[in-house]
Amino acid sequence: MISIKTEQEIELIRESGKITYGVLSSLKDFIKPGVTSREIDKFAYDYITSHGATPAFLDYEGFPATACISINDMVVHGIPDDTVIKEGDIVKVDMGAIYKGYYSDSAYTYIVGKTSKKVKKFVNDTEKALYKGISVIKEGIKLNQVCSAIGRVARENHYGVFTCLTGHGVGQDLHEDPYIPNYSNHESEDIVLKAGMTLAIEPMFSLGTKEVWLLPDEWGIVTQDGSLAAHFEHTVLVTKDGYEILTGEWKMAKEKDGYIELEGKVLEVIPGGKFKVQLENEHIVEAHVSGKMRLNMIRIYPGDTVLMEIPICDLTRGRIIYRK
Ligand code: MG
Ligand code: MG
Repeated sequence: MISIKTEQEIELIRESGKITYGVLSSLKDFIKPGVTSREIDKFAYDYITSHGATPAFLDYEGFPATACISINDMVVHGIPDDTVIKEGDIVKVDMGAIYKGYYSDSAYTYIVGKTSKKVKKFVNDTEKALYKGISVIKEGIKLNQVCSAIGRVARENHYGVFTCLTGHGVGQDLHEDPYIPNYSNHESEDIVLKAGMTLAIEPMFSLGTKEVWLLPDEWGIVTQDGSLAAHFEHTVLVTKDGYEILTGEWKMAKEKDGYIELEGKVLEVIPGGKFKVQLENEHIVEAHVSGKMRLNMIRIYPGDTVLMEIPICDLTRGRIIYRK
């Protein structure tokens, strides 16, 4: 059964999500070479408890910490310890808060210092998969449209997708129905999204295998071939005509890779030299034309099929970078 949350419940999940977002965004400056995963965990614990909430993972089925901290080839569920973070590590922090009984769940992959172009692209692509999945959400679509949008990013880039690890419903509990696999699947075809559902969307990819081992501590999950893994997650509310990200949005618009590309059809010209464009995922966004296209005198008319670049921090607008 997928629960539909009331307005009051959504408000509490929203408050919970703000606290979770507060931790993960603050950790951007805190996670550096020399810090231990236990120190990161303490930071998360102190932040959550000082904001009137409870860590959602602590004691959940016996988990001994506030955050799951998984480094490099560890995919998820790493128990914080005295491991010292090094330059070049990729550190996944997955955590949640309970505020007045309501849960949020979010994860972010931090690149520590410098790393190779390949690893940077891999981490960025995993994050883009999260936003590609979120960007299709609205009442009436099939859940599998979200799964497919995420899975396509992995397929196009030959990343491993862990079939045993999925997203899930969240809110009244940490894990609720439905399962949300990161690949196209039959079960999700039968699920139609309704306004008021709250979902944890969470792509987890590897640079190699989709097979994992469970560590002897019975929590940590690592890739079988030792390849790197990345993980991003948001708690998202389904609305009548779209979605609301309840665990904040990462302000990446000014960063080069902070965009997703989507195809769309131009519907109409609107004041200010802008356009209304219906995306392949059916959402309608406002668009301006890229400087390069204007320079090349490429005109846009209603009915044109175009490629749009949409900033991750605001999926409601973007710029046209190509006319087909
Ligand atoms: Mg999580
Ligand atoms: Mg989750």
